[in-house]
Amino acid sequence: MHTLDQKLARLVFDECRRQLSLDEVPLKTGGDRERLTESLAGLIGASGHDPEAVLSAFLRDVAPAIIACDTPRFMAFVSCVPSKTSILFDMVVSAFSLHGISWLEAAGPVAAENQALRVLADAAGLPAGAGGCFVSGGSSGNLSALLVARDTGLSRRGGRCGRPRVAVTADAHSSIGKALHVLGMEPLPVPVHDHRLSARALRDTLAREPDRDDVVAVVATAGTTNGGLIDDLAGVAEVARQQGLWFHVDAAYGGAGLLAPSVRGLFDGIEQADSVVIDPHKWLFSPFDCAALLYRDPPTAKAVHTQRASYLDAIHDEDDGGVGNPSDYAHHLTRRARGLPLWFGLAVHGTDAYRDNIENTLTMARYAADLITGTEGLTLVCEPELSVVLFRRDGWGWDDYEKWSARLLANQVAFVLPTSWDGEPVARLCFVHPETTKQLVDEVISTIARPLDGVT
Ligand SMILES: *Cc1c(COP(=O)(O)O)cnc(C)c1O
Repeated sequence: MHTLDQKLARLVFDECRRQLSLDEVPLKTGGDRERLTESLAGLIGASGHDPEAVLSAFLRDVAPAIIACDTPRFMAFVSCVPSKTSILFDMVVSAFSLHGISWLEAAGPVAAENQALRVLADAAGLPAGAGGCFVSGGSSGNLSALLVARDTGLSRRGGRCGRPRVAVTADAHSSIGKALHVLGMEPLPVPVHDHRLSARALRDTLAREPDRDDVVAVVATAGTTNGGLIDDLAGVAEVARQQGLWFHVDAAYGGAGLLAPSVRGLFDGIEQADSVVIDPHKWLFSPFDCAALLYRDPPTAKAVHTQRASYLDAIHDEDDGGVGNPSDYAHHLTRRARGLPLWFGLAVHGTDAYRDNIENTLTMARYAADLITGTEGLTLVCEPELSVVLFRRDGWGWDDYEKWSARLLANQVAFVLPTSWDGEPVARLCFVHPETTKQLVDEVISTIARPLDGVT
């Protein structure tokens, strides 16, 4: 198994090339549990199978049993739309078995990953000393950052603290609540008007909180997943500074907007964050499994995350004079050099190309919002700040939206899902694919606009 089967290599490369050459990836409709169980039965046993047969089974039964993310027609959730360049380089990272654990083992990949992290840190306006590592996703980034927030808060209080708490809003991503649960912390819910965390609401909540001293951090979201809205980062940063709270910014989805001049101003204040998470696998055109985790002061994070073990002494002996061991900045140890596809894409295309592609998506979101506003029977829920568009079809309930969603998927028009907003069902379109066209937006909106002939 460690000898290359040239024929298999050719087949695999041919299939990858075929996939990458598709003009448009078909959306597809997902998988059927029974059929999958049946088709996978017996594939793994004590003795192996002909690789071509297994590859065929994958292509016939496994690969099509999905809803494809890398098409402009995927508008539910925040999709993953890797550039061809970054996908090709992801294959290189695998073929070269590049690890990204430590400077000792992986100085080159780590230096290149740090170069890509620098681009994001500069876009955010973080200081020159800022740094961190790439983790598997926003959830992992939030968890790792909040562990540093907790331990920093506890050590500032000399351990004299009740159960540590973190100020959050209901619009924060579900992974924040999960991270607090894992870390034994409690949320301090801050009420919001118009779904954005404001300085005043944070200040009022803290003032009313009898256990104020237990509050160690505040989480602001730069691009809420449900509505694409950005909290008042500058205002929250100020309160955090005055009150000695760790300021974490979850920009997993929205962080790409830092590169887009038309929305950059909405992020003002992010430069004051103690930690920031940005997912290149969402809106920065990188393959799955890539989130950038940045700390304003990496040594603080290192003190919390470094794993000590006699067999690991060698990786800590190396003095790299900077962020050298990505394993020191999150809860992980072994990791693949998952930031390299982004690094390669940035180096090949330049940051202007990223800016233009992100602006394209924003333009499509604004176009959709205008179209909705101008269509009888449709009501825009709020002006999009980033690339999420929420709207209502007058008189519709959950069932109607769900039928609409099912019909669009069945007809392969688009994958859209309703969400809830202030307790009401609404339609939600999330754009991240830079090749989304006005024609496609027209096509999707026409399926929900009040039909002239009265037929749904
Ligand atoms: C998607 C998202 C996350 C979670 O990121 P994963 O990469 O899915 O783990 C966290 N926060 C926000 C705001 C998100 O949009």
